[in-house]
Amino acid sequence: MANIGFIGLGNMGLPMAQNLLKAGHSVQGFDVSKAQADALAAAGGRAAESVKAAASGADIVITMLPAGQHVRDVYLGVDGVLSSVGAGTLLIDSSTIDVASARDVAAAAETKGLAMLDAPVSGGVGGALAGTLTFMVGGSDAAFARALSVLEKMGKTIVHAGGAGNGQAAKICNNMILGVSMIAVSEAFVLAEKLGLDAQKLFDISSKSSGQCWSMTTYCPVPGPVPGSPANRDYKAGFTAAMMLKDLKLAQDAAKAAGATTPLGADAAKIYSQFVESGEGPRDFSGVIRFIRGG
Ligand code: NAD
Repeated sequence: MANIGFIGLGNMGLPMAQNLLKAGHSVQGFDVSKAQADALAAAGGRAAESVKAAASGADIVITMLPAGQHVRDVYLGVDGVLSSVGAGTLLIDSSTIDVASARDVAAAAETKGLAMLDAPVSGGVGGALAGTLTFMVGGSDAAFARALSVLEKMGKTIVHAGGAGNGQAAKICNNMILGVSMIAVSEAFVLAEKLGLDAQKLFDISSKSSGQCWSMTTYCPVPGPVPGSPANRDYKAGFTAAMMLKDLKLAQDAAKAAGATTPLGADAAKIYSQFVESGEGPRDFSGVIRFIRGG
């Protein structure tokens, strides 16, 4: 069993760390919010007082932080992960961050002889709790092979997407599809309403026709057809509109840097930006249908 340092014990990190504890690993965790580290201790882990304390002596360090700057600070800062771990420690960042930061931090780790993976996830808080996340992993074959048995304790589908940064590339491409498809499905339901077509009828037809997609059949943005979707609980998140906007912006930054043309991705980023500016950032991202409907 491994000694794991876990940094960033928020909505996702805490349940992920708890699944590692359940699997018999020992986990020392740090979060700038003491309450989060205390929650890990209550679940059988150890609350560390700093990044350095969480990383020292760990076989594996896992981070689950808000954005690229946090990841840079935690790994590269004074008393950060890179200066605190011993030789042979495997580093895994599961935050969703920009591809450039992921590659920069992995390169800095490599200059110290440390293997690092970017391993962002899909599946949300529900997937983190159930241990059914999808991991998209970038890094070397050897590091991936070492990480697999630990990632399997937190996720169900684990895909090696290629070299450093490719996990983040996969994540933002996937979420660009999701943002665009949620808007498309929402527009279709709003148009159906205006045309006098019942939402359940559109669902019955499109869920079995070429309009079928995850935003339609699993996360339907109108109440009724899919009882578990956030539309049935006043769009309580789930996956917040603010997080969708973050991922769409990351996709746009990456598209600009790589010279890729993504007009629908750009429009989706604009629509989510307006939705978030209207005060709906904490709402589930499928609530964008209300913005499209105009109320
Ligand atoms: P969160 O804000 O709940 O958790 C982040 C945690 O990091 C917080 O507890 C915060 O206190 C802590 N933190 C910030 N700076 C720190 C530092 N310097 N040292 C230690 N701890 C620090 O966010 P979350 O929902 O858990 O998301 C984490 C990451 O996972 C994000 O990158 C997000 O985009 C991604 N993600 C989230 C979801 C989701 O549904 N919530 C789904 C997939 C991916």
